Amino acid sequence: RASPPLAALSQVLRLERSRRTGIVFPLQKLERYLAPGTDTARFRLFQPGLAALQRAEALFRSDRGHPIDYVSSAVRMDHAPPPALPEVCFIGRSNVGKSSLIRALFSLAPEVEVRVSKTPGHTKKMNFFKVGKYFTLVDMPGYGYRAPQDFVEMVEAYLQERRNLKRTFLLVDGVVGLQKTDNIAVEMLEEFGIPYVMVLTKIDRASRGVLLKNVLEIQEFVKENTQGCFPQLFLVSSVEFSGVHLLRCFVAHVTGNLPTLEAS
Ligand code: GDP
Repeated sequence: RASPPLAALSQVLRLERSRRTGIVFPLQKLERYLAPGTDTARFRLFQPGLAALQRAEALFRSDRGHPIDYVSSAVRMDHAPPPALPEVCFIGRSNVGKSSLIRALFSLAPEVEVRVSKTPGHTKKMNFFKVGKYFTLVDMPGYGYRAPQDFVEMVEAYLQERRNLKRTFLLVDGVVGLQKTDNIAVEMLEEFGIPYVMVLTKIDRASRGVLLKNVLEIQEFVKENTQGCFPQLFLVSSVEFSGVHLLRCFVAHVTGNLPTLEAS
């Protein structure tokens, strides 16, 4: 299977400058539409240079000496693989675009199968992926309008017990913004003191106005109501690949696989 266009930085670098910025740093692309005087310091806290982006991409590109594999699924913590490597996990409402994003992150390892179990009534599982000898990535079950008890119990146990968890990525729909149900996740993360970061998905589907509104609202929410959330939002489109390269780089960074982070 060939990887989709713009899945690799080399393809993005061929674009003209403004499109390239939009793909690699989607939040910066929005800056010019903000009212003068708006504080954009939080837009640039994590701003890696090309070398760091390339190094991160290499981690997400599988080859014989660097396999990227689906490892296993678990419904209970005692079924989770041993906590041997630094780990990140992805959580969010059902339909937020979580499987699409994980597929986009792993698009340079097309043999990786990102499974989805959406059939109502089926037990949702935590899916573990291993990226060579560098880190593991966990796809957590999605929560719904009423987060089922098994979701809360599974995720709660995972967040509380997982010693190797370096960062949680909380996905929020970029078109509809933060929803009441997202508070379940925010409250859990805040209560346990887990470091996390918010990722706005499907940005290709949001008009610029809607996207700006959601970005500013969520930034304000993070500033006023959270302790453990990284102040910079990450914006992604799994269709256009915007933000995916930067997110790969942030994952590499938080798992300790990007020792020197040079500014661009
Ligand atoms: P999950 O339930 O969180 O795993 O969500 P999925 O990844 O299955 O996505 C839910 C729906 O949103 C699907 O119809 C996807 O095709 C669509 N979707 C996901 N990501 C994007 C995106 O970045 N852009 C657009 N336009 N659609 C997306």
